Amino acid sequence: MDFEQKRFLMVEQQMKARGIKDKRVLQIMRKIPRHVFVPKNVCSRAYDDCALPIGFGQTISQPYVVASMTETLGVCGHESVLEIGTGSGYQTAVLAELVKEVFTIERIPDLSALATKMLERLGYQNVFCQTGDGAVGWKEKSPFDVIIVTAAPEHLPQELVSQVVVGGRIVIPVGPADSQKLLCLTRTKTGLSEQYLYPVSFVPLIQDPY
Ligand code: SAH
Repeated sequence: MDFEQKRFLMVEQQMKARGIKDKRVLQIMRKIPRHVFVPKNVCSRAYDDCALPIGFGQTISQPYVVASMTETLGVCGHESVLEIGTGSGYQTAVLAELVKEVFTIERIPDLSALATKMLERLGYQNVFCQTGDGAVGWKEKSPFDVIIVTAAPEHLPQELVSQVVVGGRIVIPVGPADSQKLLCLTRTKTGLSEQYLYPVSFVPLIQDPY
């Protein structure tokens, strides 16, 4: 089976069958070559229904989780997005296809460099990568319409709340390694409203300097 066929099946079996409905998300995930974002030794498993190692003790998220988090963001095209935890850059590419601009932060310099190179090679001109601690956000480029975090802090970093617009969403896994919850938080005029999505298992968001 070639990669295109595998991608088609990934969308049918892992996404549509599990309730992902957003047509733009489904279409983009059918298009983006996930296999170029993973190391060669796991390339043949790029469309499998699981997270995969990308080196440096980190992982590329399970395809369903990428689709589901993206759908939950509820973007329609004009948005400025902050992503924390660039990792492989795959989720970044998905977002870049769906919004106006993506600002993405990765704490491991080598991963950030690899992802930046691949995103450039694929021609994305609306992605801006930074190496550093994403827990403090990217103040100069704020406010963002939505924020997506793909590593799990034990508690929500408050700085992020001040960098999303009122009415904007933050999709983030929160909690200790054995009991993380994927949350969709919406900033309101007076605080945050919280929606619990499902249990997840992300790598931790590390807040020390690398
Ligand atoms: N969306 C990525 C997920 C990668 S795993 C993908 O699908 O490929 C999460 C990433 O978050 C890791 O690369 C890890 O190094 C990074 N990370 C952890 N703590 C961070 C922090 N404080 N700031 C920025 N990135 C962080």
